[in-house]
Amino acid sequence: MSDPETWSPCPSGELSKLQKSLEHDINRRSRRRFLAAGGVFFLATGSLVTWGILESNSRYAHKISCREVLDLRSTYLAGRIESDEKRKLIQAHLAHCPKCRIAYEA
Ligand SMILES: [Zn+2]
Repeated sequence: MSDPETWSPCPSGELSKLQKSLEHDINRRSRRRFLAAGGVFFLATGSLVTWGILESNSRYAHKISCREVLDLRSTYLAGRIESDEKRKLIQAHLAHCPKCRIAYEA
């Protein structure tokens, strides 16, 4: 049995100070964990999005042949490509095909 005489209560304020510093510590730690998780999330989303764009671009690029792209050169450069889809295909193709890009820039 503990002797009530030797048991002294915590000095007032001590307990809440301890509690505050603990809370502070926990907050800081969970914030860091949150930031780390957020970073990983953004990194993953970012690379997924980038990958998706590259992937869809290269799929676009192969939907149209060099021959078609070269045939459409003067029409494209004159800004007379009627369909948005075709213009996008040409742009994607040019982004992936140096040969056609050089022809268009010439
Ligand atoms: Zn090409």
